Order: sequence, then C-alpha cells, then structure tokens
Amino acid sequence: MSDHGDRVRFSSWGGSVASGAHAVSPADFDRASRQPGVRCLPYGNGRSYGDSCLLSGGGMIEARRNARILSFDEETGLLEAEAGILLSEIIAFAGPRGWFPQVLPGTQFVTLGGAIANDIHGKNHHRRGTFGVHVDNLVLMRSDQGRLTCSRTEHADLFAATISGMGLTGLIEEATIRLMRVGSTEICETTTRFDRLEDYFERAEAADERHEYAVAWIDSLATGKRFGRGHLICGDHAASGRRDGVGRPPIASVPLTPPVSPLMGPALKAFNEVYYRKAKPGTHARTVPFDGFFFPLDRVGRWNRLYGPRGLCQHQGVIPDEHGPAGVRALIECAHTHGQGSFLTVLKRFGAIASPGITAFARPGYTLTLDFPNRGARTLALLEELDRITIEAGGAVNPYKHHRMSSATFATSFPRFQDLDALRDRAMVSDFWLRTVGNAAERPVSSNQAEAPSNDTFTLRDDARPAPVGTPAF
Ligand SMILES: Cc1cc2nc3c(=O)[nH]c(=O)nc-3n(C[C@H](O)[C@H](O)[C@H](O)COP(=O)(O)OP(=O)(O)OC[C@H]3O[C@@H](n4cnc5c(N)ncnc54)[C@H](O)[C@@H]3O)c2cc1C
Repeated sequence: MSDHGDRVRFSSWGGSVASGAHAVSPADFDRASRQPGVRCLPYGNGRSYGDSCLLSGGGMIEARRNARILSFDEETGLLEAEAGILLSEIIAFAGPRGWFPQVLPGTQFVTLGGAIANDIHGKNHHRRGTFGVHVDNLVLMRSDQGRLTCSRTEHADLFAATISGMGLTGLIEEATIRLMRVGSTEICETTTRFDRLEDYFERAEAADERHEYAVAWIDSLATGKRFGRGHLICGDHAASGRRDGVGRPPIASVPLTPPVSPLMGPALKAFNEVYYRKAKPGTHARTVPFDGFFFPLDRVGRWNRLYGPRGLCQHQGVIPDEHGPAGVRALIECAHTHGQGSFLTVLKRFGAIASPGITAFARPGYTLTLDFPNRGARTLALLEELDRITIEAGGAVNPYKHHRMSSATFATSFPRFQDLDALRDRAMVSDFWLRTVGNAAERPVSSNQAEAPSNDTFTLRDDARPAPVGTPAF
C-alpha cells in the first residue's frame, strides 16, 4: 500500500496505541484501498478513549489533513465542510456570525468526521438529540463504490450506518450540517448544589424542560447520607452579548506522564471535597464564556497524562429512565466496592429524540460517565462489573469510551450491529471491531492488546465474568 512511509504513533485519549500502524493520506485511500487485502481506518483527532479509533498493523487515514469550510449559508445556517475540520474551528467561524453547533461534546478538539462517526451527544441531548440529527448529507468514499453522496433520501442505508458507524462504512470526506442561531456564544449558567443522589433525580426532568443544557457533576466518593451529592449545572445561550468563537488558551499543560497517577486515594477525595464546596448551597447564576461552560478540561493541555503510564479508562453507560435511580446508584457503589474512585463523574438525562444512526449509543435514559486510572486487571474487572450492571438494567455501554468491551456487551447494547457489519466497507476495520465482531482472517498481525482476553474464535461469546458484586434488584 502507498503511504507516507512514516511510522506514526496513533493513539486514543485513554492511551491505547495502534501498534505497527502506518499513515495513509485521504487522497491515497481511494487508490490504495483497491488493492486486495488492504485494511484501513479513518483517524480523526484521537479523542475516543478506547480502541474503536485504532487499527494495529493497518493504514490509518489521516482525516485531519482535509479541514476546509466549503460553503456557509448565513440565512439557514447550513455549513458544508471537509470532515477533518475540528469543532473548535467551526465555532471560531460560526460564533462571530451568530451561529453555533447544535451538539457539542466535552472537548472542542474533535473532528467533524469523528463527531458523525461516533454520533456524539452533548449537554442538550434532551433538546437536540445527537450530532447525527443535524447532518443533512455527507460525501462518503468507499473502496468498492467510490464517492457517494448520502442523505436521508440518497443511499439512505449507508447514511444511517455511517452516522454512529465508527468509521467502518468508508471515509467521510465532507459533510453538510445545520447550525443553530444564537444571540451570543456566552452561556447564562446556573449551578445548584445538591446533597444526595435522590435530589438530582428529583430535579433532572424539570432542569431539562427549562434549559437548553443540563448536566450534573457527582462526587462519586461521598458515602452515607452524602452519597451521590454534586452540582446540577444548567445553561442557556445569552440573548445578546459577546460572539467570541475562539476559546481561551490552556492555563497549563501537563508536561509529562507521572509514574503514578495522583488521581487516586486521599488526593482524589480531597479534590472532590474542595470542588463540592466550591459551589455554595442553593442556586447561583452567572454568565460564562462558552469554552468554560462546554470544555473546562480543554483548559489543561494533555490532562490525560495525569492518569499515569497505563492511561485512563472511561466507562459510560445509559440506563432506561425507570431503572435510572437504582442503576446509577449501583454503578457508583460498584466503583466503591472495587476500591476505585472515579476522578470525574458526570450524570445526565438523555431525551427521546431518535438518532438517524443504526448503532447510536445515546437513547432515552440516564447516562453516567466514570473515569479511572488504568490499574490493569483490577480496572478491567471493575469495567466488566459496570458493564454487567448496565446491561442487566436494560441499558447500553458506550463503545467509543471503552477499552475492552466484550462481544456480548456490544451485541446486547447494539442489536443492529450486524446491519452495520453488512454495510461495512471491506477495506475498513478497527481493533475494536476485530475484537468484538470481526473474523479471524481480518485479525491484525501485530496488536497492542496485550491485556485483552484471548479471543481465538471471534464468534459472539459471553466473556467469563468475575463474581457479581452488589447485584442491583431491577
Ligand atoms: C475530554 C473529552 C470529552 C468528551 N466528551 C464527550 C461527550 O460529551 N459526548 C460524546 O459523545 N463524546 C465525548 N467525547 C468523545 C469524543 O467526542 C468522540 O470520541 C469523538 O468522536 C472523537 O472525535 P475525533 O475527531 O477525535 O475522532 P477519533 O477519535 O480519531 O475517531 C473516532 C471515530 O470516528 C472515525 N472517523 C474519524 N474521522 C472519520 C472520517 N473522516 N470518516 C469516517 N470515520 C471517521 C474513526 O474511525 C473512529 O471510529 C469526549 C472526549 C474527550 C477527550
């Protein structure tokens, strides 16, 4: 295969690495992919946490190389751009013009293609659904069919499979998305401190009804009467005010990876205590710049290094409304039982707006996100437990945040995964796909999955599970 000849280190935000992968330019993909046996995967900006954005021993298509805005309609907010553009660049262009992306994740450094391929969600899922809801059409390059324009009416099956398709249906070259009109990029934020998890569930629905954005930070280390205490943070765009589109530069950057993560034990508990008390009792309002509201973590460069040399494991599950309070409690208790505290714990309610994507993660219910330093087998055992609790509560586990999701968890979370596999571009595959769905013939020659459970058959299987801990009564 033609490539740049360079062996580039492709990694994910959680620290997984595509060993032996080589870089492929988007321009080369078309020609190279026609050669038999070629295996590739688009790579955006590596802000996925696990291995769904990686292909060990394969060609990683550097989507970031093409990042131009192609057209913008100031009347309708329709923006056409190359898929390698970052959401930060879209905000910088659109903000001063009074327009804003309808869905934003917790970092602005993700590409348009990555946002579509993972069908990301934001703090306003209850109002706007996922990112894919706002995609009008996209241009897909496939190794077997060439360049196709896909929309709800043209190649509709590929459109639905590509949104949430984790890069497996082909390379998204361009996309047209619908922005929303805003009076200002500034956010009127209200923070309400609550003392118990139950208080959050009493407030969550009303917060969603009243506000464009709503999310909670949970002190996942608090126990007893304070279990699940935290802050409910709501926001709406200011009706008028500044229209800045450029976030402030980072206040600091983590220069290197410490040998042991400081985000554990007493330091973590102390951080949570201080952070909890930072908000005074009651509800407080203020107007904040957009980057402080949406992307607080972006203010510290390479913060993921703080999780230590083995990286960071994030777990995100969504649990249907009826089991939300019990399920979320069980997930936090499970982390306690395993003696592993989550540094950053975020709780949010997803609304009912359906995604156009056939394997979209976001669906109605409560979604809890937990972050742990990777401590090897101990953390993997915890993740398995969290998966089990989520699945038993009728929920689903997020694949692009996960390091080692089993085939069974994936298949239960995404019943239409075979439809995606049927529409998969046969030149495209990922380490994640090979581990959960793929067949042995496509298994990478060299892989960094040293800690992955052995997986010789690649048929769907129920992984061996550790003894249940704190099984919730659903
Ligand atoms: C601090 C932080 C906060 C986050 N908060 C959220 C959040 O609130 N909500 C949320 O949903 N996610 C969140 N994420 C995850 C992140 O938004 C997604 O993983 C996003 O998809 C990453 O985009 P990326 O451009 O880095 O793509 P990558 O991680 O490089 O790739 C993501 C997937 O997209 C595919 N892909 C990339 N480009 C293309 C293309 N041109 N054509 C086809 N496929 C392509 C890749 O193959 C891969 O499967 C967060 C991540 C971080 C680090």
